[in-house]
Amino acid sequence: MRSTHSYGRSSTRTNGRPCLPAGGLRRDRMEIRKGIAVSPGVAIAPAIVLDSEQFRITRRSIEPGEVEAELARFRGAVDRALAEVRELRQRVTRDIGDKLGAIFEVQDRLLTDPGVTQEICEIIQREHYAPEYAASTILRGYARKFLNLPNRYMAERVTDVYDVEKRLLRNLIGARRESLGTLTEPVVIVAHDLTPSQTASLDRTKILGFATDLGGRTSHTTIIARAMGIPAVVGLKTITADISGGDSLIIDGNRGLVVINPDEPAVARFREAQRRFGLMEKELGDLRDLPAVTLDGHEVKLWGNIEFPHDVSTCLARGANGIGLYRTEFLYLDRDQDPTEEEHFQAYAEAIGLLKGQPLTIRTCDLGADKFTHLSGDYDERNPFLGCRSIRFSLQHIGLFKTQLRAILRASALGPTRIMFPLITNLKELRQAKMLLNDVREDLEDEDVRFDADMQVGIMIEVPSAAIMARHFARECDFFSIGTNDLVQYTLAVDRSNERVASLYTPGHPAVLRLIRTVVEAAKEAGIGVAVCGEMAGEPNYTPVLLGLGVDGFSVSPATLPEIKKVIRSATMDQAREICDKVFRFDSDREVDAYLSEISRRLLPEMFA
Ligand code: PEP
Ligand code: MG
Repeated sequence: MRSTHSYGRSSTRTNGRPCLPAGGLRRDRMEIRKGIAVSPGVAIAPAIVLDSEQFRITRRSIEPGEVEAELARFRGAVDRALAEVRELRQRVTRDIGDKLGAIFEVQDRLLTDPGVTQEICEIIQREHYAPEYAASTILRGYARKFLNLPNRYMAERVTDVYDVEKRLLRNLIGARRESLGTLTEPVVIVAHDLTPSQTASLDRTKILGFATDLGGRTSHTTIIARAMGIPAVVGLKTITADISGGDSLIIDGNRGLVVINPDEPAVARFREAQRRFGLMEKELGDLRDLPAVTLDGHEVKLWGNIEFPHDVSTCLARGANGIGLYRTEFLYLDRDQDPTEEEHFQAYAEAIGLLKGQPLTIRTCDLGADKFTHLSGDYDERNPFLGCRSIRFSLQHIGLFKTQLRAILRASALGPTRIMFPLITNLKELRQAKMLLNDVREDLEDEDVRFDADMQVGIMIEVPSAAIMARHFARECDFFSIGTNDLVQYTLAVDRSNERVASLYTPGHPAVLRLIRTVVEAAKEAGIGVAVCGEMAGEPNYTPVLLGLGVDGFSVSPATLPEIKKVIRSATMDQAREICDKVFRFDSDREVDAYLSEISRRLLPEMFA
């Protein structure tokens, strides 16, 4: 979520004196850039700008008599590059888990694919070009193919191709690997892009954070950064051009901000945010096993949002008592075929096993719009966010949908499992989805396959039509989960990923709050559960108002779990209701957000200085 913040939006400029100790070229003015927050935490340090490690490859020819020796040199480079990739994969698997280690599979495949190496060898043999030129030409051809794919997940794999190219060239040319190993002082890194290998090799004690021009939430680089706990902001477009080595920098991986040459008040403010984050990390041990209960004993569910089954462990370690949103579309990441029923099942079974009796809420695939499967390439939509995404996509691909439903039902026999359908906009969709679920149930019964016949079926409330009609939906499902990321986007007509309208995007808008109230009231009336699983649930400023509205579950990203638990534990329900009443008297998001910031400071002065 692009939250509001008191210190301005992208490109906000404030006069002030940069105050962090650092050399290099200086500007007089603080500048703030907004990018995509991909790994939480706040880093404050001088920047180093990584050069893009461009090798100058000329179209060098070789003599016919040199061909054999050059082929041998190329094959040696491939072997060494492959050994490096495998070693890196082993290290990442050991340090941060096998799913992340598997990210290097793409590179392994490129280096071992006989077709790819054959193409390179042919150019060396037939055209008599040097291996450097041959390898670079062929691999860049592959990169172009990736880049041209309309499927964004696949297009982001282009960094893996560049990674392999650089690795091969380094091994051919014998250039030294990146010099980050020689750092003596903590720094933050600014780069056009970081390859997954570079990220996995970062020394966490010296590299406090990174910011890049390119990158998205789902790139391998950012997935690795998250797992390593390195604060990161990506997608900043021109950050390498805006910064000189030695500039002071703040990287706020919680809000997606980069502050260049911050003035003293900004440094103080971000140190404060950093302190709060650190405080929560320290308090984590104490907080983890405490219930998410208000001062007067009202308990709510505090769950984690996950993208991969192994994220369950992080959520539990940070005090979650279940998973309120498993974004299963990540099963489609990096593949050119749909996952099989068995692959779905294995992923759910892994999550359920790790949860040891705590509930798992599986959201059926939310594909389309910004989340692609290889099938998405077949469609070209002018307005993908208003197009065939999410449940609409599932209902148009019944085979794919039923495969997932079968796997979810089978997994439900292993532990408490709930299913929810995303982006429901009308009752017909819910009924169709439930009908397909029933068909699958009957098939499983016929086959004598076990499943939980009482598995709860819920829907996400992510569009105004569903919120307004919540009373009707509540009669036909077991729970609601409010997806505020989309609800805000569709209510305010603000693209959640468009930087130019980011200042308009806030859950504090009275229209959004009113829709949430309608949904909660409908759920209460029908006696069904209602949680919030969008980023709003992980913003401590909104916790009292959601509590006051009567939300009974918060499902948040693992980074924010302790903070939210702490806020829940700091208020009574009477206070929360009072805050809520007051909030509904305001008619602008500015007033709402200013008031809620003030409340946070009052409730927890040590946290919100
Ligand atoms: C939401 O829209 O709030 C939500 C949780 O779903 P996603 O962010 O995956 O679209
Ligand atoms: Mg959504």
